[in-house]
Amino acid sequence: MTVPRRPFATDDDHLHAAWRLFDDAVAALTGPRHDIVVDDDGHRRIATAPSMYEEMRAELAGRQGTGLSNASRSLPPVWIDGVDWFRTVDDTVTAWAPGAIGTTTEKLAYLADWAWQPQDYLWLRTSAAEIQGWVEDAKELIAGRNRFSVTAPCPACGAEQVVREDSGGEHVRAPALQVSMAGASCLACGQVWSLEGVMEFAWTLGCRPLAGIDPGNAYDVR
Ligand SMILES: [Zn+2]
Repeated sequence: MTVPRRPFATDDDHLHAAWRLFDDAVAALTGPRHDIVVDDDGHRRIATAPSMYEEMRAELAGRQGTGLSNASRSLPPVWIDGVDWFRTVDDTVTAWAPGAIGTTTEKLAYLADWAWQPQDYLWLRTSAAEIQGWVEDAKELIAGRNRFSVTAPCPACGAEQVVREDSGGEHVRAPALQVSMAGASCLACGQVWSLEGVMEFAWTLGCRPLAGIDPGNAYDVR
């Protein structure tokens, strides 16, 4: 009796696996996002949000204002990251699809529908990984909104900087203390100060309230 042998993967198998990765990556960047949320009554329901690409666009538009004047204004560094993100994504997709017209979303849909051949599987796989990288970058940029750093040693651990790896794999130094609308935190030791605790936190850094502001209520001042 012949033992059935597991067939080798064919070129078509490689193509279809890579094509699937590409489709998934395009959906992660430009497709609607679904999430399971628990409502006030404890029921689970599906919430639908716009695509990551659309959220980035709204984020950038919100930060740049609605253009009441033509004067260019300087953006905080994190906005520059958003601007760079769009330039990378849009330029790369345009280079991938020279014959396609329309938005980046439309060009990616055009690419996903292209009649790919078995020899294209490596390109599809590499490009899928690149798109997934853009999605991860966007998540980080959006999570960092309304966040700024403080150049002072952490009152809890004394660290002034942490070493982080940037998107290019380079090790870069960043301030340890990060402040957002949710409060302040230290990237080095993980200490968190709530919004109410930020006044005390500011005192420990040597900040003093501005004249005319009651320090007891200063955190009510927006
Ligand atoms: Zn610390």
